[in-house]
Amino acid sequence: MTLPSIDTKYFTKFLVDLLNIPSPTGFAEPAIDFVEKELSQFKQLELSRTRKGALVAKWKVESDLPPVALTAHVDTLGAVVKEIKKKGRLKLSRVGGIQWPAVETEGVWVFTSKGEKIRGSVLIDTASGHIYSAAGSKTSRNDEHMEVRLDARTTSRKETRALGIKIGDCVAFDPRVEVTQSGFIRSRFLDDKACVTNIVAAIKSLADAGLSPARSVYFLISNYEEVGHGASTGIPSDVAELVTVDMAVVGKGQESDEFSATLCIKDSGGVYHFGLNNKMRALAEKHNIPYKTDVYPFYGSDGEAFWRAGGNVALALIGPGIDASHNYERAHTDGLVATTNWIMAYLLD
Ligand SMILES: [Zn+2]
Repeated sequence: MTLPSIDTKYFTKFLVDLLNIPSPTGFAEPAIDFVEKELSQFKQLELSRTRKGALVAKWKVESDLPPVALTAHVDTLGAVVKEIKKKGRLKLSRVGGIQWPAVETEGVWVFTSKGEKIRGSVLIDTASGHIYSAAGSKTSRNDEHMEVRLDARTTSRKETRALGIKIGDCVAFDPRVEVTQSGFIRSRFLDDKACVTNIVAAIKSLADAGLSPARSVYFLISNYEEVGHGASTGIPSDVAELVTVDMAVVGKGQESDEFSATLCIKDSGGVYHFGLNNKMRALAEKHNIPYKTDVYPFYGSDGEAFWRAGGNVALALIGPGIDASHNYERAHTDGLVATTNWIMAYLLD
């Protein structure tokens, strides 16, 4: 069977919109809402939320085979306010592993507990070139020296508190999304919004073509992956296989690239399931999907979180190649299309 076509215009618009919704771990609900709204147009799906706040979409079909599941996460790296400094600027505590040099001078939103949002930017505390000169560039980019300068009149703790900012308020870094003529999508947090988009696009392509999965499927859009336990719950116990859809690591020593999808064989959490890996390879070959196999050096997945929590499934990890991950990331439409096709091939098999 040939796979249905993918509406790449829809795909790109959905991805850009999703990237532009701030959703650091702990504050991912607006992104969950957005995906839920999009999926609600497909009457084939039964939507629900876990108590933890993840979105579950069930596509039930008549089949004697046990159901399967796919997961991707909408939460991203971010930060919370750790301290209000004497001069009214903010010290942050990072959520997940954002690298300070990658967000130096970037715009941020501070979301207060009362629902206000205040604009600002991330700077080193020795930013002024006319004061610190070369010494400023030597300052270590770490939690101690990076601060948020608020775009509000404040020069003291008191004034910053008067803006409604409190310790623990959520801070989201701007994604800086750009889509190029050459098919690249450059943005922070393509991990893992690219893969959420792959899942949504696969559902749309199947639905538009009047097709259904070969067996019942649960799609879990998780909201706590970047801190290591997103999909540890939310997948029903009768699910036989779980395919985690998350970015592939591109760079020195890696086989993955931005123009293919990758099957991850091993990451920091160990090896994935041999039988399901082979099934995924066979599907890619059958449908001429450009794919690589790879090993990721510093990486853990939501599928492994489920395994650790006692999940009794065969587990695989696929995803598009993302350059400069957890930094200023980049993907290419070809890799995203390959991943979406792979998801469809799996669902139809
Ligand atoms: Zn991820």
